[in-house]
Amino acid sequence: DYVIETMNEGMSEFWGRSVEQALNKPVFDVLPELRDQGIKELLDNVYNTGERCVMQELSINLIRNGKLENVFVKFVYEPLREADGSISGVMALAHEITEQVLSRKKIEESEEHFRQLADLMPSKISNATINGEVTYFSKSWLDFSGFSFEELRDFGYHQMLHPDELEEFQNRLQHAATTLTDLVMEMRFKNAAGDYVWHLNIASPVKDENGNHKMWVGVTTDIQKLKEDDQHKGDFIKMVSHELKTPVTSIKGYVQMLLSMLNDEKSQNELPLKISLNRIDAQILRLTRLITEMLDLSRIESGKLDLQKTSFILNELIVETIQDVLQTSKKHIIKLEEGCVCSVYADRDRMAEVLINFINNAVKYSPESGNIEVKIWEAGNNQVAVSVKDYGIGIDEKDQEKIFERFYRVAGKTEETFSGFGIGLFIASEVIERHDGKITVESKKGEGSTFTFILPLVIGT
Ligand code: ADP
Repeated sequence: DYVIETMNEGMSEFWGRSVEQALNKPVFDVLPELRDQGIKELLDNVYNTGERCVMQELSINLIRNGKLENVFVKFVYEPLREADGSISGVMALAHEITEQVLSRKKIEESEEHFRQLADLMPSKISNATINGEVTYFSKSWLDFSGFSFEELRDFGYHQMLHPDELEEFQNRLQHAATTLTDLVMEMRFKNAAGDYVWHLNIASPVKDENGNHKMWVGVTTDIQKLKEDDQHKGDFIKMVSHELKTPVTSIKGYVQMLLSMLNDEKSQNELPLKISLNRIDAQILRLTRLITEMLDLSRIESGKLDLQKTSFILNELIVETIQDVLQTSKKHIIKLEEGCVCSVYADRDRMAEVLINFINNAVKYSPESGNIEVKIWEAGNNQVAVSVKDYGIGIDEKDQEKIFERFYRVAGKTEETFSGFGIGLFIASEVIERHDGKITVESKKGEGSTFTFILPLVIGT
């Protein structure tokens, strides 16, 4: 019946029952709330088999101070034997560990919380013991690498390094480990798809409260976009210098030729003035355009692209622009289809730049085909659309969004033969956006491209 024969104050406190209340009564009468919590079965087993029962941590509900409390206890049930070896009872030694368990659970919760934080960060986080044994890789590391934690810990990390940086990384790591200083290195890691991606990799030794180094924390951030921007900027500067040099060299050539002819009495009267000046003028136009684009770029970047808006008939601007382009490129036939006569409220010069960029690109990127179609029509919702279609080299789908980015030029053997520096469409899309319009491209590689912009219409035209 598990009648309580003897108990100490400690057990009385743990149960929340006084010794007088409990002594000489069956334990489940004293603590009826324990009846359905599996305790009786444990006691029966000890009593019937003589095997001691050791519980490191059991959660039970006890009524203490008048209310039901959930407590944690560590205990031993030991069979009590008579002189002849028969079992006459059970001795219980209990140690309440509620406080320890609750504080451990709090730590576990906090650890879980920080783990979730680390997993949600876009940077990749890792943890290693001070001897370099990795204990944690955040989810972003596992997702990026496609490895499990164990795979990444045991061999993945080194497999992911770019061969060009392997040696330097190992040297730096060695240095950081022996001097217990930060390792900071820009380096590439291979992702699950097999592509190397640039990262800023920082590993820092972290101290405990006594100032002893206890672990390494690694934060690895994707800087691929920054690297690409840097690369594009570098390419841009190279291209700009080249683009500026070509017209200047040509102008210089004509000027020198004219000067030397002027100094030569024989040819003094046969100066090819008209043709030379025309060529010089065309080159100056090219230079001016380059400089305008660069000025616009810096204005856009500093948020200072001011628009001088007026109402004007878009069709007239289109006709003028086509005539301008035809002045310098005689090879192409530009057909205009006017579905409407439409007015817009816009910055006329900037709209001219957008059109020149569209038409010049259509000319430039269709060296084999001479036909270009320009169309203007009402696009519904009080909008007007203008499109420029060519039958040139076309643009691969994967590049179609990117060509509107700053400095982006499609890479490829054919593409590289065209001069340019990848800011025309960026400026065009900024200008159209600033007019509450939209710019789109439809294209198929090898078949040609259609660039279209849509602007709000001035009603009543
Ligand atoms: P740029 O022509 O000076 O390089 P843009 O910003 O005008 O710069 O164009 C960006 C890129 O888009 C070009 O380098 C080219 O690869 C592509 N592109 C633009 N227009 C066309 C077109 N009509 N046909 C094919 N590719 C084009």
